Amino acid sequence: MVRETTCRGCGAPIVFVKSKLGKFIPCDAQLVRYRANPDGKDVVVVEGEGAVRCDLDFEGLPTGMARVSHFATCPRAGEFRRKA
Ligand SMILES: [Zn+2]
Repeated sequence: MVRETTCRGCGAPIVFVKSKLGKFIPCDAQLVRYRANPDGKDVVVVEGEGAVRCDLDFEGLPTGMARVSHFATCPRAGEFRRKA
């Protein structure tokens, strides 16, 4: 289940992606292709799973489509952390 909304901080379109533990993680609405890699430098949030370490810049076939956590890209993410 994916809920679409707008970031209260920067106004970007975001979605809440549900993790394996039932926690909703705010992510960029844009889907990206990723390749799972335990030693990768990037992290994506996979629907029904949660954060997965991966590479977003890779060669070959992608593992699938996922989203980047909005905390990683929001210019005002620091304000959310202070409030929380
Ligand atoms: Zn934002």
